[in-house]
Amino acid sequence: MLIRPQTSQTLTQCWYTRIHQPVTRKARGEGGMLLSVCRHCQRAIHSHGGKSWTLADGIDLDELASQSHIRYICVTSVDDGVIIARYPIDRDAVEAVVQARIDEVIEKHEARELGSGLEVKLMGGPR
Ligand SMILES: [Zn+2]
Repeated sequence: MLIRPQTSQTLTQCWYTRIHQPVTRKARGEGGMLLSVCRHCQRAIHSHGGKSWTLADGIDLDELASQSHIRYICVTSVDDGVIIARYPIDRDAVEAVVQARIDEVIEKHEARELGSGLEVKLMGGPR
């Protein structure tokens, strides 16, 4: 089903990809958060460390994950900051089990090679 937009504005590339790219001008906000404006849609965006940018008024998955008690192994594409896969981990899992599971995921996605462009990391859970 197609919904005709009210305005004749063309949709920006990030509307489809959800990948926002900052303009060159950036500012530092609270807690070291980088603030900028998307060069495509002109909306306010922010980032932890400048790798991936999310809408400042939207849901920040990284932020959410770091507050969650559920732990995930996340496979992220480094270039565009998109999460490719997410594997939940039992929150009571012991370190050895978690490490074994991470190794499994790395193996599965062949993320061990340096040029893979993938990052496998544990997110969320009690610190
Ligand atoms: Zn945008």
